[in-house]
Amino acid sequence: MDSRTVALIRTTFKAVAAEEGGPEKLASSFYAILFTDYPHARDFFPAAMDSQRDRLVKAIAYALDRLEEPNKLLPFLAQLGRDHRKYGVQPEHYVAVATSLKTAMRRYAGTEMWTDEVDRAWDDGLTIIAETMIGAADKETTPAVWTGTVVERRMVLRNLAVVRLQLDQPMGYAAGQYMSVQVPSRPRMWRYLSPAVPANSHGEIEFHIRSVLGGWVSPAIIGQTQIGEQWLIGSPLGGLGVPRNTKRKMLMVGCGTGIAPLRAQLMQMAQRRTNPKVHLFVGGHYPCDLYDLETLSSLALAHKWLTVTPVAESEENPWWYVDSGESERAWPGLEPLMTGQIGKVVASFGPWADRDVQIVGSPSMVQTTKFRLMAAGTQTKNIRHDPLF
Ligand SMILES: Cc1cc2nc3c(=O)[nH]c(=O)nc-3n(C[C@H](O)[C@H](O)[C@H](O)COP(=O)(O)OP(=O)(O)OC[C@H]3O[C@@H](n4cnc5c(N)ncnc54)[C@H](O)[C@@H]3O)c2cc1C
Repeated sequence: MDSRTVALIRTTFKAVAAEEGGPEKLASSFYAILFTDYPHARDFFPAAMDSQRDRLVKAIAYALDRLEEPNKLLPFLAQLGRDHRKYGVQPEHYVAVATSLKTAMRRYAGTEMWTDEVDRAWDDGLTIIAETMIGAADKETTPAVWTGTVVERRMVLRNLAVVRLQLDQPMGYAAGQYMSVQVPSRPRMWRYLSPAVPANSHGEIEFHIRSVLGGWVSPAIIGQTQIGEQWLIGSPLGGLGVPRNTKRKMLMVGCGTGIAPLRAQLMQMAQRRTNPKVHLFVGGHYPCDLYDLETLSSLALAHKWLTVTPVAESEENPWWYVDSGESERAWPGLEPLMTGQIGKVVASFGPWADRDVQIVGSPSMVQTTKFRLMAAGTQTKNIRHDPLF
C-alpha cells in the first residue's frame, strides 16, 4: 500500500476517533449497520456487546498504526484469520464487515472529508486485510478450534485461579503466545488467555486467570469452573518468544497473570542447552500477590542465566490477608523483594540498552513500564508487548 493511501485511511480514522465519543459512536454505528444489513452476522457475537465495541475500535486502531509495516501487520492479520476460523466465518462475512465498517466511517467522516480518493483508499486497505485473513485461514491445516477438558482448578489467590486442561489434541503454539478461549458459562464471549506452560506432546495446557471486577468472563471462570467441563480454544496468536540461538540478552517484566507467558518461555528455555542472560522482574500490588515465586525460584536455582527480582508496590500485605508465612518467605535463588511501582524499579536499573525487552500485564502497567523504560533510554524498537485489547 502506498504512503498516500495509508495517510488517507489514517487521517479519516483519526478524525472520527478524535471526536467526543467518536470511537463509541463509530463502533455502535458499525454493528447497527452490520446487524441490519446482514442479520445472520449477529449469531457470531455475544448478547452483551459493550466490551465487544471497545475491542473493535482498539483492534482497528492497532492495525492502522501498522499499515506501513507490512512485515508486522501481515503476520498479525494471518494469525487473526487462522483464529477467526473458530467462528466458522466465510469470505462473504469479511465482505459484510468491510462494507459495514466503510459505511459507518463514511457516515461519521462527513461528505467533505469522504472524497472518492478516500473511498478508494479504504477499499484498498480493507481488501488487503480481508485477503490476508482469508488466505491464511484457507491454507491452515490445524483444527479451527481445540477442546480442552478442565482437569484441575486451583485458587492461588482469592481472585486468581490456575486452571489446567487436557486438550483433545496437542497444539503447536510458541511459548509466549496467547489464544482466545470460550468457557461454557459464557457462550460467544471469547477472551484472550496466555498459557503458562510451553506446548507439549501430551496436550496439557495451563492458564492463570485473575478475576477482573465487573468483568463478564473472568469472575465466571474463577467462580464457576468445574472439573470435567469443556473449554473451546482458538489458534495461537502473538509474537512474544525468545528465538533459539539468540545472543541478545533479555529483560522480562510481568505483573499479575502477566507472569504466565514469561514463565512458559523460561520453562522452554530451560530445555535448551545455551541461553542468553535473562533478568525477570515479577510484580504485584502486595507481596502476597506474587503467587508463582516457588516455580521461579526453582528455575533460577537451576539456571545461572536467569535472575529474578520480585517487586511489590506495597511493603505490607493488606489487613485482610491471612498470612501463613508464605508471602514473607525468602525463596532461594531469587533477588531480595523490592518495593515500588514496577516500571520505576526496572527503569532505575539503567537503560537496559543491550536487552530485548518484553512487558506483560494490564494495559496501564504495560504503557507505564514502557514509558519509564523509554525515559531511561531503552530504545522503543527493543520493547515488545502484546496488543492492548
Ligand atoms: C494478549 C492478552 C493476553 C491475556 N492473557 C490473560 C491471562 O493469561 N490471564 C488473565 O487473567 N487475563 C488475560 N488477559 C485479559 C483477558 O483477556 C480479559 O480481558 C480479562 O480476563 C477480563 O475479561 P472479562 O470478561 O472478565 O472483563 P470484560 O467484561 O471484558 O471487561 C470488564 C471491564 O473491565 C476492564 N478490564 C478488562 N481487563 C482488565 C484488566 N486486565 N485490568 C483492569 N481492567 C480490565 C474492561 O475495560 C471493562 O471496563 C489477556 C488479554 C490480552 C489482550
